[in-house]
Amino acid sequence: MVIYIRKLNKDLLKNLLIFDSHCDTVNVLLEDDPYIIDKKDAHLTQEKIIKGGLKAQFFAIWVNPVYGFEGSQKKAMKLYNALENNLISTGFGEKVTSVSEMAKAIKNNKLACWISIEGGHIIENSTVKLQKFHELGVRSMTLTHSKNNDWADSNGDEPRWDGINKLGRQIIYKMDEMKIAIDVSHSSDKTIEDVLECSSMPIMASHTCARSICNIRRNLPDSLIKGIAEKKGYIGVNFFPGFLNKKIWDQIFKNIKKYEKWFEEKTKDQDNPDVLNKIEIDLYKKTVEGTGQIDLNAIIDNITHIADIGGTNCVGIGSDFDGIPSTPTDLKDVSGYPALVNRLYDRGFSVEQIRKIMGLNLINYMKYFD
Ligand SMILES: [Zn+2]
Repeated sequence: MVIYIRKLNKDLLKNLLIFDSHCDTVNVLLEDDPYIIDKKDAHLTQEKIIKGGLKAQFFAIWVNPVYGFEGSQKKAMKLYNALENNLISTGFGEKVTSVSEMAKAIKNNKLACWISIEGGHIIENSTVKLQKFHELGVRSMTLTHSKNNDWADSNGDEPRWDGINKLGRQIIYKMDEMKIAIDVSHSSDKTIEDVLECSSMPIMASHTCARSICNIRRNLPDSLIKGIAEKKGYIGVNFFPGFLNKKIWDQIFKNIKKYEKWFEEKTKDQDNPDVLNKIEIDLYKKTVEGTGQIDLNAIIDNITHIADIGGTNCVGIGSDFDGIPSTPTDLKDVSGYPALVNRLYDRGFSVEQIRKIMGLNLINYMKYFD
């Protein structure tokens, strides 16, 4: 039986198109220019990508809101250039903006690199700037990060607009028109409800888990999983233990309290966004000190739940690799995907369902934006 499973999975892996909807590797690329894609402790390196069988990836250009108005776009461009110089110009990856371009890149043995921007503040309230990002190849935008912006509420903040405001609606219409996928990871429940109501396109939550399993605001309640699925949208399950398991989240929360003073002192009178950004990332790393460990079954529990609520066509993987300070014990980086595929199979998912979860659902979703 074991031999049979291994053989089947080897064939399955060979023909599997693994496509992940979110990683933060671009920030690692910028940190240690040049050519950090082979930095040993990164979750995504050339070696690990090949070993894991990853074929296509949404690379997020995440800009910390501390860069503020008139600083965010500049920082985003620096990140974009880091991606271009380290991953695309080198020939390992190819920038893609459509499903057909993706297929061509994969056929040529390149990693298909989709680009998203994370945090609507990056466009600095301007649809002209949004258009510029579209011209660069950006095909998805996460509306908020963990703070509200001038037009949409985040789930990491207290309500300011009760969802999205008038400018937010204009931006949503523009995104639909330009065919930029709307990503509601980090958005408040009300923001997601508003978007579901006013967008004419299917929407996605590129790196988000289920609230029924881990009851935190960062995760999606069943009603919104259903709402996203009913509009033919997509949900990529995040691999961060803190979003997968409430006990771990509570420990993280305790650590945040523990380091509150440390953070205040470090950031006091500091107005350099690069320094503030570094301190926040350091804090994020500290928050997982001493927290419990989980294995990749926690990811599969989320996949199973989202499939139960929204159907098997809406769920996929949104690892958040290189943006999460800890991982499940048996999926420490992108090279671990075969283990995830094996476990999905062992837990009763059919070959067809595994194909969908590992990439096909995201491909079908992105076809709406071709
Ligand atoms: Zn994120």
